[in-house]
Amino acid sequence: MSIGLLVRCSRELLDLELGRDVQRAFALYAEELLAWNERMNLTAITDPEAIAMRHFLDSLSVKLAVSFSPGMRVIDVGTGAGFPGLPLRLVFPSIELTLLEATTKKTLFLEHITKRLGLSNVRILNARAEEAGQDPTTREKFDLAVARAVAPMPVLAEYLLPFCRVGGRCVALKGEHAAAEVQTAENALRILGGRLIKIIPVELPLVVETHHLVVIEKVAATPPQYPRRPGIPSKRPL
Ligand code: SAM
Repeated sequence: MSIGLLVRCSRELLDLELGRDVQRAFALYAEELLAWNERMNLTAITDPEAIAMRHFLDSLSVKLAVSFSPGMRVIDVGTGAGFPGLPLRLVFPSIELTLLEATTKKTLFLEHITKRLGLSNVRILNARAEEAGQDPTTREKFDLAVARAVAPMPVLAEYLLPFCRVGGRCVALKGEHAAAEVQTAENALRILGGRLIKIIPVELPLVVETHHLVVIEKVAATPPQYPRRPGIPSKRPL
């Protein structure tokens, strides 16, 4: 993995200084990701520079939308192999991170990688967002809910907003067409208690398309009937 590139871009783009231990952790993460990827489909991105930019730096770009504070409760919904949650936890070790993932075999990788990285206090939940969003132990318990590449905005709003406390925020990592996607989610945001704050463009080195961070504030409690049963948000988006 191109650790030098990650270090330089983190500094120049995000004003983040990655110390030696953190650099070693990212290198190990990339190594394990590729090793497990031989056996299960975790990522289509296998080029070392692309892993550094498209997985690690892209995940860390959430820093442009959020000031991370000690004890901040963060949930990454549909985290897959840990993106964007785990890179954020490596760089901001004092956050309380929960990784939510519906696919059991991916949570096996998450169990493995968090152990290898010595991140024993990262919570891994093998569940669907629709179920965990109705569970009193996780509903409205987070300061920040993040997600990348999980669902279109109206569906994602129904996955993310139930996890946030009122006053908390959701950040969706989106591609080129973020603004158009957000327009389609106006109704969902209104129903679920969300309000669009801003859309931040992110230009990543070696990545042609512009990425966007969609920042949503939770301004009112989510009505109890949301999220609806598993599969319904994507079948019948609000
Ligand atoms: N966020 C990761 C990333 O950017 O690399 C993974 C993206 S992958 C395309 C989408 C992931 O979201 C899959 O691992 C899938 O199992 C998970 N997912 C999709 N719908 C979900 C739901 N309703 N609840 C929990 N996880 C879900």
